Amino acid sequence: MHWRSKLVQPQSLAPKGFKSLSTPTYRGSTVVFDRQADVKDIWRQTDNAYTYGLYGTPTALELGARIAQLEGAHHTFVVPGGQAAIALIYLSFCKAGSHALAPFSAYGPNKSLASGLLRNLNIEVETYDPLIGGDIGALIRTNTALVWVESPGSVTMEVQDVPAICSAAHAREVPVAMDNTYAAGVLFDAFGHGVDISMHALTKYVGGHSDLLLGTVSVASEVTCERVGATFKQLGLAVSPDDCSLALRGLQTLGVRLAHLENSTLEIAHWLSQRPEVAAVFHPAFPSCPGHVNWRRDFTGSASVFSILFHNDFNARQVVTFVDALHLFKIGMSWGGLTSLALVYPDLDRPGKDYAGRLVRLNIGLEDIDDLKADLDQALLAMRQFSEAGLNNA
Ligand SMILES: *Cc1c(COP(=O)(O)O)cnc(C)c1O
Repeated sequence: MHWRSKLVQPQSLAPKGFKSLSTPTYRGSTVVFDRQADVKDIWRQTDNAYTYGLYGTPTALELGARIAQLEGAHHTFVVPGGQAAIALIYLSFCKAGSHALAPFSAYGPNKSLASGLLRNLNIEVETYDPLIGGDIGALIRTNTALVWVESPGSVTMEVQDVPAICSAAHAREVPVAMDNTYAAGVLFDAFGHGVDISMHALTKYVGGHSDLLLGTVSVASEVTCERVGATFKQLGLAVSPDDCSLALRGLQTLGVRLAHLENSTLEIAHWLSQRPEVAAVFHPAFPSCPGHVNWRRDFTGSASVFSILFHNDFNARQVVTFVDALHLFKIGMSWGGLTSLALVYPDLDRPGKDYAGRLVRLNIGLEDIDDLKADLDQALLAMRQFSEAGLNNA
């Protein structure tokens, strides 16, 4: 062969038999078949019947299989992010004319998808009180195609009675999908509590280092698997094998990170709850958290994200001053990484509740606890010292 051909079609020259502790990163779009007769285009690539890189290389399939094992799922689809997982679930179960239910404490972009693209497709997503429990049965219509649960809820942390909601939905043969991101798929056994489809953002705890975006959709049964698989294939939700490789590494330290984060977060949340500036702490392990009894009954631990509500003698500007004054806590979205984060949620849509810009969500990272407390302490001081008069003079 000419050297140009050898460059394009190299033989594998490295010695065989490399045994290491890490999972190889397989990149590839085209899958090579031995014969024309073997060519097929099916998303299901079990038993080494690979067809196309779009449906996952061995690295993505390894990640999916490990998540499935961890969650006790029938199958797990790996998708580009948590939001892609949410979209995949909606589009697998809803069609024009469908009705779906989602708690008003659902992840914001879930509700944006509902009021944007889905509404344009004539899919109606109705929001419900996350603490509704079994009474959700009354909201189920003949065209209800999907019930969402997310527990604890985003930012306001309501813990739902998932088994009661599943029973009520199943009585009407409606599947229940869960956003299990808070629990990283491990602190809450979604399938054990009756859920049919469980998704989470690997972006958060599995990735764990704020350097990748991935999501998973796990299904409990073969029927659900076929349904989600057909949609997955048509949407072309490919993932990068390099990101999957990072997620596989993240999985190995998930246990120790979660254990450490749980303790640090509880300590900081308790410390904040003693502060005179703080009116309420929304952390599922606190009896004051809405739905705390459900958390005690159903969860095996708590994670690193919670919210604080400042007393109403502080105004929204002072709360922004608090966040801006933080040094170690960075201002940013997403969570579950190594770094502590803070963010104000000025316009949360929570019927009957007006937090008036006084709600701040914190994510506790792996920094030293005393340094984090000192940082919060100086920012609380800055908040107290901030006055409208001072601002006007400036
Ligand atoms: C972050 C998050 C998502 C979305 O995950 P991405 O990977 O950022 O798309 C979905 N649900 C919840 C509850 C989240 O916190």
